[in-house]
Amino acid sequence: MMSEINRSVFPQIALRSEMQEYLHNVYTNKELVSELGKEEAEKVFDSLLSCLSHPPSLTCLRASTHIHTLQDIEHRLEQHLAQQQVSGCYSDRVSTPILPHPQLPDVLLLPVIGPRDVSILNAEVIVGAQCGSAVLRGAHVFAPGVLSAPKFMKAGDVVSVFSDAEGRCTRGAKDFQGKKVFLGNGVCVMNRSDIFCAEGPVRGVAIKMVDALYQSPSFDGVLPNEVFLQNLPSVVVGHVLGPRPGERILDMCAAPGGKTTHIAALMANQGVVVALDKIKSKVEKITENAQALRLHCIKAHCYNSIQAVCSDLTHSCSTADTPPFPEESFDRILLDAPCSGLGQRPNMALNYSLKEVCSYQPLQRKLFRTAVQLLKKGGVLVYSTCTVTLAENEEQVAWALKTFPCLTLEPQEPHLGSQGMPGAELSCDQRRLLQRFRPELSWHRATESHASEDLLLKANTDTIGFFIAKFSKR
Ligand code: SAM
Repeated sequence: MMSEINRSVFPQIALRSEMQEYLHNVYTNKELVSELGKEEAEKVFDSLLSCLSHPPSLTCLRASTHIHTLQDIEHRLEQHLAQQQVSGCYSDRVSTPILPHPQLPDVLLLPVIGPRDVSILNAEVIVGAQCGSAVLRGAHVFAPGVLSAPKFMKAGDVVSVFSDAEGRCTRGAKDFQGKKVFLGNGVCVMNRSDIFCAEGPVRGVAIKMVDALYQSPSFDGVLPNEVFLQNLPSVVVGHVLGPRPGERILDMCAAPGGKTTHIAALMANQGVVVALDKIKSKVEKITENAQALRLHCIKAHCYNSIQAVCSDLTHSCSTADTPPFPEESFDRILLDAPCSGLGQRPNMALNYSLKEVCSYQPLQRKLFRTAVQLLKKGGVLVYSTCTVTLAENEEQVAWALKTFPCLTLEPQEPHLGSQGMPGAELSCDQRRLLQRFRPELSWHRATESHASEDLLLKANTDTIGFFIAKFSKR
């Protein structure tokens, strides 16, 4: 018998009131309410706010199946986790099962156990919201994430770790009375003075989590050439793009390169994957990842993708792998667009203004125009975001189909998520071709069963919020 999860230990995501109102309007829009009814639409919105602050119930690892077999990687991972257990990282760790994903041949899943019953101690350490989210996904606490620690805290002390829910805690504080969320207990590796009084920037683990509210192995530096920590919908994107060996692919917003390396691996390292990103330090990360995974077909450049089309016809633009490029020069293009990121989980607090969130739609359209120009006739364009608004997802699809008559929406393989959300005047057939991962839809039905079949069912539903559209060009 499966029992209901008690998730009330956690508050809903904290948003600015203007943002909460905006999202509420999205989730209770006219089209949607006429399909679901007002009461159900409100319930779904409430579930959205709850599920965003909780971690997904499985950790997803993409395996480097271009180097080793999935079974080999699974075996190495098993050995590594057993070692973590022996080295005593956790107080009562039960062995974590590793589950191959039934539909994705390069994915291994590990259940996240929680929320667990953990007692709060007297000594409190406060960490920033970003650090807190990482801890909820199995990370230890790194020194730059620590905001407040007890006056005499020293290495070896056992402390309770909390996340600063509203961004109010000042770095270096000795205690904090603001709103905080309990994350679990850990052992200090550093003294308070190592964290706050060091001369240069501090690096490294400050607190080793031993009794986390949500328990999941730490994957920091684990088998770096064999597994890549990646959210499940992001892995789906690579498969939906469907690259083939020998093709020319463009990844327009590529850093840090999670999807780029996946695409190159799916092409068996044959052909070219041009990876662009406008931030230089991030491009270095793509190159580093490509080298670690021995993916030599990736050519990474720091470039503003909006300007990636060679407009000067008299000046011969490079036909090689350096931007700008002539029109119609790529077989497939991925536009994993910069977005408001509202689908990311866990996220306990988001301080975005409505203005910031609304700034993404025009930027995405500029990038989309370039993508259409650079795509060969007969080519495939995949557009994706990790956000939940209509403006950056279904509305972009409606705009694209109106603006570029050469584009057709295509079915996606695999299609593991839900269909597109109502509210952007797309037809039912068009919405069916879209793929939206909507963790809020299964939130009420969630259970704490750890049977493999139940966990695998959750793998495709209890994900981050994500959107994928696939187009072909005539
Ligand atoms: N695809 C990446 C992955 O899977 O690892 C994540 C991409 S992230 C959603 C969006 C990226 O777009 C950021 O790294 C950002 O620097 C980049 N970006 C934003 N505007 C850009 C532009 N005009 N040209 C190129 N890159 C841009």
